[in-house]
This record gives sequence, C-alpha cells and structure tokens, in this order.
Amino acid sequence: MTAVQDLVEELVTANHILAHERVLDSFGHISARHPEKSDHYLLSRARAPELAERRDIMEFTLDGQVVGEITGKPYSERFIHGATYEARPDVMAVVHNHSPNVVPFTVTKQKLRPIMHMCGPIGSTIPNWDIRHKFGDTNLLVTSMEMGRDFAATLGDHAVALMRGHGCSVVGRSVREVVFTSVYMELNAEMLIKALSMGEVIYLSDGEIAAITNGRAGFTFERGWENWCRRVSRPYVPRSWDMGAGFSKTDT
Ligand SMILES: [Zn+2]
Repeated sequence: MTAVQDLVEELVTANHILAHERVLDSFGHISARHPEKSDHYLLSRARAPELAERRDIMEFTLDGQVVGEITGKPYSERFIHGATYEARPDVMAVVHNHSPNVVPFTVTKQKLRPIMHMCGPIGSTIPNWDIRHKFGDTNLLVTSMEMGRDFAATLGDHAVALMRGHGCSVVGRSVREVVFTSVYMELNAEMLIKALSMGEVIYLSDGEIAAITNGRAGFTFERGWENWCRRVSRPYVPRSWDMGAGFSKTDT
C-alpha cells in the first residue's frame, strides 16, 4: 500500500473509533495532512463518521478546494482543518467535534483542564473561541477561510481550543495522537462535571501536565488505538511507537 492509501485506511478507522467513543455523532470530522503534499489534506465527504468508507475520503487544498479523483459534497466546516494546517506546520491531524460533555464548558466560565493523568495532553490552558466577536450573529458554523483563520489564531500553539456554543477542535502530530487526545478530552469533561458536583476540584498542576506530556510514549497511543480498533471491528495496523522528538519509551 502507498503512504496515501495507508493514511486513507487510518482515517476511515479513526472516523469509526471517534463515533464509537462518543466524540463524534452524525456530525463532526477528522482530517489528516496529505503525506506527500503538505499543502493538501484528506477528509471524508459530508457523511456521518461511523459510515465513512475509503471511497469517501476526499483531497483538499488548504483553502478548501476539492482536488483529486474522489468527489462529493464536502463538509461545510472543512475550513477549520485547512486554516489549522496553514497556521500550524507541526500539525498532521485535526478533529472537530461537538462532543456532549465538552460543550457546557464552552458556554460557562467553568474552566476545563485535566483532572486525571491520561488527560494531560489536552493541555493546561484551553482557549475558548467565540465566533460572535468578529462575525456577529451567525449559525455558528465555520464556513469560510476567514472564520477558520480567526479560529486558528485563537488555537495558537495549544492542543485544543473550545468553540463557544458549538464544540471544540483538537490537533495532533498523527491521527493516532489526535484520536487519543480527543477521546480523553471528552472523558475528562465528563469526569470533571461529576467532580464539580461533589465539591472543590484539585486539578493537575502545570508541572504534572508537563511531566505527562513530555514523557508520553507513542506506545501509549498504540495501546489505545489497538483496543479501539477492536471495538469497531477494524484491522489494527501496528506502527512504530518511536515518534521522535517529544516522545520517550519510558512510560506505559
Ligand atoms: Zn461543528
């Protein structure tokens, strides 16, 4: 299989996993930067993620134009992906979701930050983008590059940014990393809502989050990915878990 075919398969699997793990429902999407053309990305046509198949994965330029052989109705919010890849050369995969336990944190002043060690990769600071600040009253969807770029500016160097009254977007250095962060983003939000109902919450410290993030091995992503593949009856393709700078093999 070529690198592109390989990535298309991985994206199909990621679509199914994110739907099964309640990060995506009939809406929301995951993309990956094209492995051979860094100014292109791959993203399903507008379809419920758990139904996505190989033949649905389309190719786009960063400004959202359809290229390649596969055509169809694209997601109207694809500009989130292109604008993020444009602003962040380090980002290789993007998830945009409306995951249900995250949305309450987009419309209240309650801060969302990690409370459990597996959730460290969501980061200690999570900005909240409000489309209304620049674009006034809209249907809240990110339907142009201008909107996408405004969101990407709020995302900055973070792993996650909330979107007021809408959801969030998560970025990563690989499909497996962005799936991992997205799953634990939703779980952290769910656990935090429960913890807040019980009293004062002790969050992870900045130092703890840094220790978790800097020490996390690709092996951790592999362990989750293998299990999640099994849950959605998709083949597990092992990857080398030595992912270079920022990763070590010391944790499990
Ligand atoms: Zn959306």
